[in-house]
Amino acid sequence: MRIVLLGAPGAGKGTAAKMLSDTLNVPHLSAGDLLRENVAGGTDLGIQAKTFMDAGGLVPDDLVIGMMRERLARDDCQTGFILDGFPRTLDQAEALSTVTGIDVVLNIVVPEDVIVKRLSGRRVCPSCGAVFNVDNNPPQTNGVCDSCGGDLIQRDDDQPETIAQRFATYREKTEPLIAFYTRDDLVREIDSSGSVEQTRENTRAALGL
Ligand code: AMP
Repeated sequence: MRIVLLGAPGAGKGTAAKMLSDTLNVPHLSAGDLLRENVAGGTDLGIQAKTFMDAGGLVPDDLVIGMMRERLARDDCQTGFILDGFPRTLDQAEALSTVTGIDVVLNIVVPEDVIVKRLSGRRVCPSCGAVFNVDNNPPQTNGVCDSCGGDLIQRDDDQPETIAQRFATYREKTEPLIAFYTRDDLVREIDSSGSVEQTRENTRAALGL
């Protein structure tokens, strides 16, 4: 199954994507994770992307489209994929449509105040990618990853000023994609305002899994 996840930053796309990837046995392609890997690896793409990411803006379309085109061409994507954080602009959506069809678009919906609280409390493990939340999903030991024992950090772009900018970017550039995909009747809405488990359940229900 070829799935696109839409939703504001912090809506829970990553959580839904991971569950769907495990259930459907198709890769989870997170544009943000791929960009962060490039930043950490000091690649040309990473060096160019970092300034935009730190400011809460979008990395230019040509860079992201090139990166995702390459990823989607790999063998593991041929039976399906979960796209998380791509496309994020109409130009990206148009480019994607020249590469592959899409079976369903899940729009993950949460009130803005809930999201701001979630993002401010989010802590991530740079070593293994595990995600925690100081309010509703804390690690057993403060600041330490339950999975691998690594030090947890707050993402640079989860600082309050950057969160506000990421929201503004989402409203301006990404929200129009809901109308874009609604024209082809591909969009299903997922309520993600409850617990992580409720969101997983709502996601399964939306796909009849
Ligand atoms: P995310 O992990 O999805 O919240 O993405 C983190 C940051 O990476 C975003 O705030 C953008 O700066 C950048 N980014 C991720 N996906 C895209 C995309 N499809 N187009 C442009 N920039 C992106």
